[in-house]
Order: sequence, then C-alpha cells, then structure tokens
Amino acid sequence: MASENNEARSEEMRRKIALVTGITGQDGSYLTEFLLEKGYEVHGLIRRSSNFNTQRINHIYIDPHNADKALMKLHYADLSDASSLRRWIDVIKPDEVYNLAAQSHVAVSFEIPDYTADVVATGALRLLEAVRSHTVDSGRTVKYYQAGSSEMFGATPPPQAETTPFHPRSPYAASKSLRIGTPLTTARPTSPRRGENFVTRKITRALGRIKVGLQRKLFLGNLQASRDWGFAGDYVEAMWMMLQQDKADDYVVATEESHTVEEFLEVSFGYLGLNWKDHVEIDKRYFRPSEVDNLKGDASKAKEVLGWKPKVGFEKLVKMMVDEDLALAKREKVLVDAGYMDAQQQP
Ligand code: GDP
Repeated sequence: MASENNEARSEEMRRKIALVTGITGQDGSYLTEFLLEKGYEVHGLIRRSSNFNTQRINHIYIDPHNADKALMKLHYADLSDASSLRRWIDVIKPDEVYNLAAQSHVAVSFEIPDYTADVVATGALRLLEAVRSHTVDSGRTVKYYQAGSSEMFGATPPPQAETTPFHPRSPYAASKSLRIGTPLTTARPTSPRRGENFVTRKITRALGRIKVGLQRKLFLGNLQASRDWGFAGDYVEAMWMMLQQDKADDYVVATEESHTVEEFLEVSFGYLGLNWKDHVEIDKRYFRPSEVDNLKGDASKAKEVLGWKPKVGFEKLVKMMVDEDLALAKREKVLVDAGYMDAQQQP
C-alpha cells in the first residue's frame, strides 16, 4: 500500500514530457517556451539542413552538457521518415505530442505540391501511426495535437466554426484538410517570429528597413485579402488547454476580427508616421493562382469549453511586430554603416 502510494506520488511529481514537431518554427518556439514555463521537458524534432535553422529557439537552448538544466532537447528526424518518428517516440516516451511541422507557405505549396502533401498530409499520418503503434506496444497513453489551418475553410464564407465545411484553395490547404479522425485546431497565428515571406512579417520587416533608410520599396500582391490574424503566443496556450481535456475534440481558435492586408499596412506604416502608399508597389507575381478572400473565425467553443481567450488584439499585435522589426533594422543599419553588410540585401 505504502509503495503504491509512493508510486502514485512519484508519477504525479514526474515532469511531463512533450514532443514537438516543427519546434524551430514560429508556433513551435512559443509552445516550447510555454511548456518549459509549465515545468515540462520538451523534445523537439528538427530537420537536417546545411544551414542552422534554430534561430527562434537559440535563446532557450542550454548546452546538453549542463544536463539538469537542459530541459529542451533536440533530435534529428523528419516527417517524411516514418522509422525516425517511431524510434524517437519509443525513446522519449512523451505524454503529449504536438504536430506543428509543415511546409506552411500557401504560395510555395503551388510550386512544390507533392512535397507539401508528403510532409503535411502523409507526414501527419506517419506520426499518428508511430504514436498509435507505440501506445499499442507499450500500453501507454499519449495525447496528440494536430495543427489544422484556417486555410482549410478556404472559399467558405466567414465566420468559420468547427462545423463549417472545408473548401481548400491550395495544395497546402488540401493537405491540411486530410482528416484522419484526429481533432484539429484552426487558426492564423502571426508574431514577430513569423517567417519573413508571410505578408504580415514581410510588411513589418520592410517597414523597419524603410524607416532607417535601408530600403525604399515594398512589393506586394493582393491587398484586399482579409485574415483573422492573432498572436501565436496566445494560440499555443489554447493548444495546451486542448490536451488537458478528457475528451479529444476540434476547436477553432481565433480573434474573431478580420482585417485586410491594406488595413495592416495602414496601421503599421501609420504607427511609424509613414504613408504606405509612398512605398508599396503591386507586383503580379505575388497574386495566387486561387485566392482565399476572407477568413474570420468563430471561437465560441474554445472560449466556452476551454475558457480560452486571446490577450493580444490586432493593433497591439501590429505594434509588437513593428517594434521588433524596427529594432532589428537598426541593428542592420549599424552593420551596413560599418561595411559589414550590403544595404541591398533584401530580407
Ligand atoms: P496565408 O494566410 O497563409 O496565405 O498567409 P500569407 O501571409 O502568405 O498571405 C496572406 C494574404 O496576403 C494572402 O491572401 C496573400 O494573397 C496576401 N498577400 C498580398 N501580398 C502578399 C505578398 O507579397 N506575400 C504574401 N505571402 N502574401 C501576400
């Protein structure tokens, strides 16, 4: 009896273990910070690349030689390599798996559709199968989170909720729409860590450089597309909350506000006292073969069931991104002025 109690207590006190795919991406880096803060040990799967791609998590990386402090651990694997996924799950024995890995750029998915489907659709299937076979063989329970995308709703008019039919408009969206019985969340997260070729970050990055005189023009495509942009840091909290529920389910997480690319330009350039019309030029190459006009989520269920709500609104998000990218541009300016960087070098 005493030893049973001890076992129960040590199980309760044991650090929870999370496995995160896509840990080097925007959402993966915020999720890792959040889980470490909650006392988790976080394992991330990273792809081999000749250039290091860990910039977003370098600030939380602790040398593994400092073993008791290094609670984030990185392992080489790939969603296109089923054996690597199963092996790491057996070794890590996670309590929770978060699948955030993807080729997530919509426009690029038209250029590399086969690869996009392989990583996004079949990759999710490989990971799920690795989790399923691991649980069968070990008798363990593993909770699994699958990142969906608001792009899955595509041409379906807003507001988009859990029951809204999917109408994908790109290879990326079609790949995310593969349903395998797993619950999904759908959102459009952005932040100062957003990839530089997504429109929000592309704008704030260029704006910072324009403000300090490193760049004059910004080339964009369709300014009338409207998106429900929310702060990635808010969304990772919702991901975790979903896995703390007894029953797996689908949730839409959203700010429930939609803004056009043009509105993003107005607010961001206005914040630095500039007029976007003096700098933005339209370039046909950034128009998509098929466009998603308007995404605006209905997050009532997440609010009601999870008690989740976003903390950062549109203006605050835009200003947060502009502030960080202005600081970055100022650092670049120092390098340019000292002759260590070419001013023409575009982000
Ligand atoms: P998405 O919501 O995943 O497609 O994220 P993006 O940031 O790539 O694009 C959001 C919207 O901005 C889409 O409707 C694009 O057509 C539009 N957009 C307009 N100009 C640009 C551009 O220069 N780059 C990108 N990436 N998107 C643009």
